[in-house]
Amino acid sequence: MPMLDEGTDYAARAAWMNRLYADAPAAEVIRATLAAFPGRVAVVSSFGADSAVLLDLVAEVDPATPVLMVETGMLFAETLTYQRDLAAHLGLSDVRPLRPEAGALERADPQRALYSTDPDTCCALRKRAPLDAVRAAFPVLINGRKRHQAATRAALPVFAADHAGLSVTPLAAWAVQDLAEHRVGRGLPAHPLVARGFASVGCAPCTTAVAPGEDPRAGRWRGREKTECGLHFGAGGAVRRAG
Ligand code: SF4
Repeated sequence: MPMLDEGTDYAARAAWMNRLYADAPAAEVIRATLAAFPGRVAVVSSFGADSAVLLDLVAEVDPATPVLMVETGMLFAETLTYQRDLAAHLGLSDVRPLRPEAGALERADPQRALYSTDPDTCCALRKRAPLDAVRAAFPVLINGRKRHQAATRAALPVFAADHAGLSVTPLAAWAVQDLAEHRVGRGLPAHPLVARGFASVGCAPCTTAVAPGEDPRAGRWRGREKTECGLHFGAGGAVRRAG
């Protein structure tokens, strides 16, 4: 694979990788990313309802790839169990929980109720800050978002520069049917809450089940303008429901 000069900025790196791999199969995107940025790539996974396919593809390419799980302290118990079970099933050997800094939590959210009054700050404290803290080590993050998940994700590129490096989205073009066929074909275990109507699983206080036909992410921050935690959008990124 032709290599890009180390000194080039991440916007240029994203454009370069998109030219080479924007239409490549997801496994090839993952393989090319690990090869292009050795030792500087991690996967971000919530171990939610839709996480198994990306993690399966990563495990097939290299099961020792670091997998970062943002452990907000507000997750469902079922998610923590699923994380252990799925990692063991796939043979992932380097899952790292990222936790918010205890002092910052105590100062900003002593009652653990910030999600109800200021969810953007809650997500910044519990999700973005722990992830930002590791970006110097892992400037290249692979994520599992898909264009079909929400209107706010309809134009997701496979490679994009963000505020701290490069965001890589190998499953951007995958449709619901593609994901289902991969899950069934590979015999991947489902998140336990899927059977209870959760099409997307985040923190317990901010997630509900969805009705048939609803946007899969309609149960996230239901009744609020917020649609994204801001993890992948960085400075200036959209974190509120359009319209
Ligand atoms: S999803 Fe809810 S509980 Fe979790 S960090 Fe964001 S606002 Fe807080």
